[in-house]
Amino acid sequence: MSYLDLKGINKSYGQFVALNDVNLSAAKGEFVTFLGPSGSGKTTTLMIIAGFEKATTGSVEIDGRPLQGLAPHERNIGIVFQNYGLFPHKTAAENVYFPLQMRSVKRAAGLKRAEEMLELVGLRDFGHRYPKELSGGQQQRVALARALVFEPSLLLLDEPLGALDKNLREQMQIEIKRIQRALGVTTIFVTHDQTEAMSMSDRIVVFEGGRINQVAAPLDLYHKPETRFVAGFIGESNLIEAVVTDPVARTASAAHLGEVEYAPTDKAKKGQGVTLMIRPEHMRLSRNPIEGRRNAQMKVETIVNYGDNALVIGKVGDLTMRVRVLGADVVIIKENQDCCISWTPDAVYLIAK
Ligand code: ATP
Repeated sequence: MSYLDLKGINKSYGQFVALNDVNLSAAKGEFVTFLGPSGSGKTTTLMIIAGFEKATTGSVEIDGRPLQGLAPHERNIGIVFQNYGLFPHKTAAENVYFPLQMRSVKRAAGLKRAEEMLELVGLRDFGHRYPKELSGGQQQRVALARALVFEPSLLLLDEPLGALDKNLREQMQIEIKRIQRALGVTTIFVTHDQTEAMSMSDRIVVFEGGRINQVAAPLDLYHKPETRFVAGFIGESNLIEAVVTDPVARTASAAHLGEVEYAPTDKAKKGQGVTLMIRPEHMRLSRNPIEGRRNAQMKVETIVNYGDNALVIGKVGDLTMRVRVLGADVVIIKENQDCCISWTPDAVYLIAK
């Protein structure tokens, strides 16, 4: 059952097409993330849902009701932006009370509700403070409380964690998720950070150049990308150009690697140009070839250490390959050395687009 529907949305600014036939359905209570590079259309789509921008064509519906013609404040949508947007001369509690005030809720009852909301976002006893007396993370919690206090039909979050440092950001990711679950509010979250998208979302919508490229659950997006763009955008990957030589034997020919066997798929046709994806963690690195695996000789160029693991980057002929190894294993190899990388056919995922 869909709750939020975007139907055939196009948006042009003069000759420039910012959105091209965007269609999407989200279920009630779902946490959906818009992910994509800068300028791919995420915020424009969000602003059309919120009513701050008008689609050139297409419609937005919540629970089967078109939002067309409704001003932003008539849409019952809660929004949090990166720059908080709190009123500096109002206390935290008054900030949270504001949307209720706009809905003619009496001050005493409204402030009580505001305090309850502040407690939910972990800011009990902070209601009397002014924004300048709060940290960035605390201000963002107030903004979240203000967006949720009037029980919106939809919550829109536009890069809300962009201004926070890494630790606080991770803490807030968990908090937002907890609050979203507790309230069951349907949420659209915009980010260009793929780890954030992976860890928070029920489904991710990948935007590219004003179009939706793929919509899928995080792990499906990671393991079964439908396009080369998604494979390259989500996580580290080895993307190898190849031509299918035998769809029955499941082989494709790639420069510098020769014939490569790939995992079962119904997408390959003989002679078709495809991309073969192997995730770095599905490869092994060794001094000598490993029996029973497909091996290739690689000259190590760079080792990027992450502490518990390392990414080893090197060349097989002219082909750059990346292998993820556990921290302890990396001692066997040095930069500029020759080594073996190996994999099995089930690690080779064929992308037809
Ligand atoms: P970012 O991650 O940088 O916020 P985004 O994916 O949210 O990017 P949008 O802000 O939706 O991208 O912009 C999509 C495209 O539309 C961009 O190329 C942008 O320059 C263009 N655009 C947005 N607003 C306008 C405008 N008012 N006039 C002209 N072009 C615009």
